[in-house]
Amino acid sequence: MDKKEDKLKEVISHAKEYGYVFPSSEIYDGLAATYDYGQLGVELKNNIKNYWWSAMVQMHEEIVGLDAAIFMHPKTWKASGHVDAFNDPLIDNKDSKKRYRADVLIEDYIEKYRDKIKKEVVKGRKRFGESFDEEQFLATNPNVKRNAEKIDDLESRLSALLESDDLDGLKTFIEELGIVCPISGTKNWTDVRQFNLMFGTELGSVAGDAATIYLRPETAQGIFVNYLNVQKTGRMKIPFGIAQIGKAFRNEIVARQFIFRMREFEQMEMQYFVRPGEELRWYEYWKEKRTKWHKALGLGDEFYRHHDHIKLAHYANAAADIEFDFPMGFKELEGIHSRTDFDLRKHEEFSGKKIQFFDPELNKSYIPYVIETSVGLDRMFLAVLSASLKNETLEDGSERVVLSIPPALAPYKVAVMPLTKKDGLPEKAREIINGLKFDFNCQYDEKDSIGKRYRRQDAIGTPFHVTVDHQTLEDNSVTIRNRDTMKQERVAIDALHTILDEKVSLKRLLQQLS
Ligand code: ATP
Repeated sequence: MDKKEDKLKEVISHAKEYGYVFPSSEIYDGLAATYDYGQLGVELKNNIKNYWWSAMVQMHEEIVGLDAAIFMHPKTWKASGHVDAFNDPLIDNKDSKKRYRADVLIEDYIEKYRDKIKKEVVKGRKRFGESFDEEQFLATNPNVKRNAEKIDDLESRLSALLESDDLDGLKTFIEELGIVCPISGTKNWTDVRQFNLMFGTELGSVAGDAATIYLRPETAQGIFVNYLNVQKTGRMKIPFGIAQIGKAFRNEIVARQFIFRMREFEQMEMQYFVRPGEELRWYEYWKEKRTKWHKALGLGDEFYRHHDHIKLAHYANAAADIEFDFPMGFKELEGIHSRTDFDLRKHEEFSGKKIQFFDPELNKSYIPYVIETSVGLDRMFLAVLSASLKNETLEDGSERVVLSIPPALAPYKVAVMPLTKKDGLPEKAREIINGLKFDFNCQYDEKDSIGKRYRRQDAIGTPFHVTVDHQTLEDNSVTIRNRDTMKQERVAIDALHTILDEKVSLKRLLQQLS
């Protein structure tokens, strides 16, 4: 097993052990690609949602929220193109009987050339030491250049095949590259077929009379069909945005990477309506804003990269992914898309309703253009969890597992612990919690030795640990321990609120964005 698989396994088992993520309906052996968020998971998830909602809605007076239904009129998905074209090309290995996405098999193959480049960089850094200039090295090293050219060539061939729906061509490409099934190790492939990813179900109780409706595969269409309602009732002027957080469902063919690719997942999407002709400026604006939002978490800038799409979907005139270095390597975390007027125009056509904006400055009506920012909540969760999970060797040689979650996102902000279970210390600890709990999610913890309790709080990601001891009873002071530095300080109980507020509040994170 390679290091990447090890890391993902570690994240999965840590998430389960501490109540972050459980396999769905586990007592029945689980359901593939479906997960439940446990007692700590739901807190982290809510905190990520709050961070997104506050940054997008609260901090932008021209952006408002929406919570549309999951079920939508079936015509919606005809208009959006999902009934006819929301397909993935799938291929089966005849020996392992495993099913793959043909494009993902090829992308994984291409990733190997990226790994080669990374290895060259590591070698270069070793050889040149202090004077190493990564940018120059990437531009001039012959091995790097050869691999980069190979990547470009493979990527553009893949895009051309996908764009022309050339299924035979995809199979030939897989054969030509000698791609083998990771399970059976053979090249015994079936033909490539298209597979629609929408889950259909029936509305009403009488089979036959019922119309097929779909579980929405994206939240965006709920925003488009409400464009007129929101614009009119909210008296919105262009440019303006509508934001939504909600569940989406896709019958994914390959769903083996924990919460990265699920069949039921959650999206945080914002559609920004702009004047035609101004969309590319807004596209750049949102690409930059969203990147800043991610980086403000402080997980490390090296975890992010942009992937600009060269070949575009038929409705888009610019698109980029913000990719994150997950345990499986760099993969899409968020998509920024310039969707032109495609969706609103289609809904106008299929509904027969005029979906336009009268622009008083230009004195004319038009269908607005749209910039979309779309981030997977579960992928954000995995990004935060995987980048935060660390095994550290301490100065005394002992090991600790720490989840250094950005404090504003941590499930508990502070654990309050009486040193012993007697002498009135538990009562004092409860009194402290009673003073803090209106602003901070606190945990009371009295079981096991104090050292064990610190380790447990490190492992669940609580950023501060307050210990109540006998001195507390005399002078109302406590020790406060920092999860990341493990340093302890003696402070007055009265100072706790200010200290915590400074370090863990969402407000501080949001301030970095403006
Ligand atoms: P991918 O290429 O990885 O399948 P996509 O390009 O189809 O993703 P979009 O349709 O752009 O994804 O969806 C927007 C966001 O929703 C993605 O950036 C991702 O974070 C999230 N997302 C999409 N599919 C899933 C899934 N099956 N499970 C979890 N999150 C998902």
